[in-house]
Amino acid sequence: LVSRKIKTTDTVIDIKGLKIGANNKVIIAGPCAVETYEQTYAAAENLKKQGVRMLRGGAFKPRTSPYDFQGLGEEGLQILRKVADELDLIVVSEIVSPYDMEAAHKYIDVIQIGARNMQNFELLKVAGEASIPIILKRGLAATLDEFMFAAEYVVSHGNSNVILCERGIRTYERATRNTLDISAVPILKQESHLPVIVDVSHSTGRKDIVIPTAKASLAAGADGIMVEHHPNPPVALCDAAQQLNPAEFEQLCEALKPFLS
Ligand code: PEP
Ligand code: MN
Repeated sequence: LVSRKIKTTDTVIDIKGLKIGANNKVIIAGPCAVETYEQTYAAAENLKKQGVRMLRGGAFKPRTSPYDFQGLGEEGLQILRKVADELDLIVVSEIVSPYDMEAAHKYIDVIQIGARNMQNFELLKVAGEASIPIILKRGLAATLDEFMFAAEYVVSHGNSNVILCERGIRTYERATRNTLDISAVPILKQESHLPVIVDVSHSTGRKDIVIPTAKASLAAGADGIMVEHHPNPPVALCDAAQQLNPAEFEQLCEALKPFLS
């Protein structure tokens, strides 16, 4: 169902009037994790200034160590919803379990399924039954076939609004946090009609190369990029090193203007 052989035209996903796909390119930005109302509002205000409408923020954080900040849970989703409603933004947030689906319907506009859950088939099935668009991230070591089969799980269960997100894969290279597989973009676009975006923060883990990687992604045909932005990265509770500060976020948005139609 996700294949171009089945549907030749690009899928366009409409989220509260904002379109993604078929040359409608978007920026999705916001903090790694929702920490406080003030922090989320400050980040969201910067999005608003740049005309960015999709606010991301993690409430359920899948952390490598059980001792790291795990996110605010439902309280985090409440904060996101409040801020998004105040500033007329769209909430993008991750859920990590089928049990979170009820909360998702209450607070979230676009559900993110993270890299670690790309093959959580029970979660994919309930995401398929949901009436909310899904951003599905590529697994840490998933092939593109496995990635597309994961999307097939969602679509075959009834939800055709799926956005594929390349977020870097595990390789031997340590210069970047993960290796951004830029060739995944044109391949996914060729093989599938679904929109494709690139997470330039988790793929590289480096803010010094966020502008060239974001440009490369859009030039390669991506329908959007995701980037982490925190009002004060040094005090961030997770991914402090890769989150853009307000000035860096503004620079990125300026640099991408010619690439966004
Ligand atoms: C995220 O976007 O917050 C995240 C945890 O990313 P990933 O699932 O790609 O690691
Ligand atoms: Mn993060």
